[in-house]
Amino acid sequence: MIMEMSAIRVSRIGAFEWTTVPLRDIGEDEVLIEVEVTGLCRTDLKLIRVGHRDLTLPRIPGEEVVGIVRKTGGSVKGVLEGRRVYVYPGVWCGRCPACRRGAENLCRQMQIMGFHRDGGFAQYVIAPAGSLIPVPEGLDAELAVFAEPLSCCLNALELACVGRGDAVGIWGAGPAGTLLSRAAAAMGAEPLCMEPDDRRRRMAKGVPGPEGRKFDVCIVAVGSNHAYEEALAALNPRGRLVVFAGLSPSDDVLPVSFNQLHYHEQTLVGAYGCSFRHGVRALRFIATGAVTVRDMISHRMALSDLDEALRIVENRSGMKILLYP
Ligand SMILES: [Zn+2]
Repeated sequence: MIMEMSAIRVSRIGAFEWTTVPLRDIGEDEVLIEVEVTGLCRTDLKLIRVGHRDLTLPRIPGEEVVGIVRKTGGSVKGVLEGRRVYVYPGVWCGRCPACRRGAENLCRQMQIMGFHRDGGFAQYVIAPAGSLIPVPEGLDAELAVFAEPLSCCLNALELACVGRGDAVGIWGAGPAGTLLSRAAAAMGAEPLCMEPDDRRRRMAKGVPGPEGRKFDVCIVAVGSNHAYEEALAALNPRGRLVVFAGLSPSDDVLPVSFNQLHYHEQTLVGAYGCSFRHGVRALRFIATGAVTVRDMISHRMALSDLDEALRIVENRSGMKILLYP
């Protein structure tokens, strides 16, 4: 019986510690997962440094988790111990209007792992059995862990009705923008990334677009209102602008010409997080190679080196950073 574990704990905004924490018993419908790998993303940096709308403290962060099931609660059926799983980071009610529409990410009672519930920056994580998605046989943990960020991209592409032949402009070619471009290409669309950094732009699908180019879908994957202004101006008739990256609250009001939307039948669409089904689809995309991710791993680091890892995210000097407990 495991009573305690090493974990990253955030007790107040702006600080964290690598420490030993008690491990609670699992509930009837829960499973204990030994974390193999967790992904670090820009949201974790924001969460730790400045806080986040959905964060409650104290908290073990980490919403991108792949691990091995070590123990299951009494009422759990069909989840085998020893099985590699990806953890969909949400726990949803299943009854509210959002859940009934298949938008679990907008559930009124949404509990996000790493935000409202303890996450994967630890040796173990406890999750409801209903949040687990088995990793396809033979798929490496460090590739499967891309299922979370890729799921958020699939949600955005779905909301923007991206399809074959659509010209998709993506602002920012960090990990999210790169995955957006690769997923859009896998769906038969024609993505182009707007990214000042040559090295990052080369990783994305497509080639840099010429100035003045127009798109059927514009996705802003960088927290810049200048990028939103450019994207809005680059929309084709019937174009969809996806609000994928959040802006700082002091900076989030932009002028929009409603006559432009009216006369050109354009749409603004928000995208935040992902639903369970996106995780299933993301794992399939990764397992089949429809979306390749291995070349996006820039750093493999110990969880205890989180401080250095966060600096790399902050400086944008890496691509995807994976953390090992
Ligand atoms: Zn709900």
